Amino acid sequence: MKAQILAGPPVAAALLADAAARASRLPALPHLVIVRVGDDPASVSYVRGKARKAGEVGLRNTVHALPEATSQAELLALIDTLNRDDDVNGILVQLPLPAQIAEAAVLHAIDPRKDVDGFHPLNVGELWAGRPALTPCTPAGIMYLLAHHGVQVAGARAVIVGRSHLVGRPLAALLLNADATVTVAHSRTCDLGAVTREADILIAAAGCPGLITPEMVKPGATVIDVGINRVVSIEGKGHLVGDVHPDVADVAGMLTPVPGGVGPMTVAQLLANTVRAAELQHAVRSDV
Ligand code: NDP
Repeated sequence: MKAQILAGPPVAAALLADAAARASRLPALPHLVIVRVGDDPASVSYVRGKARKAGEVGLRNTVHALPEATSQAELLALIDTLNRDDDVNGILVQLPLPAQIAEAAVLHAIDPRKDVDGFHPLNVGELWAGRPALTPCTPAGIMYLLAHHGVQVAGARAVIVGRSHLVGRPLAALLLNADATVTVAHSRTCDLGAVTREADILIAAAGCPGLITPEMVKPGATVIDVGINRVVSIEGKGHLVGDVHPDVADVAGMLTPVPGGVGPMTVAQLLANTVRAAELQHAVRSDV
């Protein structure tokens, strides 16, 4: 029997509807500021998509597009201004940054209460301490997708392939906080298939097209494909594929497609995080 395909867009729509309803109960509509440095085509496209979606759900948004030659001091000065501005609820600096700017310095400079990407060390620490406040968007979106489809996480064996700060590590913390038994595999893992076959929930976030093949999957497992890989077909056409081989659909119980699976959840979660940040800030302000 073929796996149930877990399409992202309807679940993302549910998350966005929830975020929009919460936003409407706040004293002011949340305001997301996105900062982009340079003209990397992928970054331009991601930022455009995030700003458009923010507008669609009624959040205020501003994009600062800075030139490629922007210095670290100039970017930090802008972040300082945004940190101090009570009208700004969320700040996102689109990565990657040009070589003259140290990513860590920038991520550390963002006010943790406005850190809608969840990359500030304080938010990373809170997540691992089991007190998540603002959590990275792709992992949080995956947790929402699992919950939406009634996937049992507590007590499940979860295996994540990939240990990046963006996906693998924060997802491990979220799954652990949700009482899964978590294994994180990576490029140095021996006998990857033996590890992945243990998984009731298998998350592939390696950036390797077709890495996960049917024999690496436990029958009936829930398989989440985070990978987004651009490949060129024999006809010379470019298209996107995930980290999971299409034949895994014959073995898995549930499977996310690429594109149209985890991707839409990531953007929706960014906006949900913006609403969450505004809620936290208004709660603080109404307490003083
Ligand atoms: P990184 O390159 O930062 O990390 C990849 C991880 O996968 C590393 O931990 C690496 O191991 C591991 N890995 C690579 N090859 C193998 C292999 N053959 N076997 C086992 N482990 C392997 O990638 P990201 O985490 O940023 O992204 C992963 C994928 O997810 C990419 O395709 C990216 O485009 C996609 N992505 C999708 C998003 C979405 O919204 N759908 C959002 C973010 C990312 P090691 O640490 O040992 O090098």
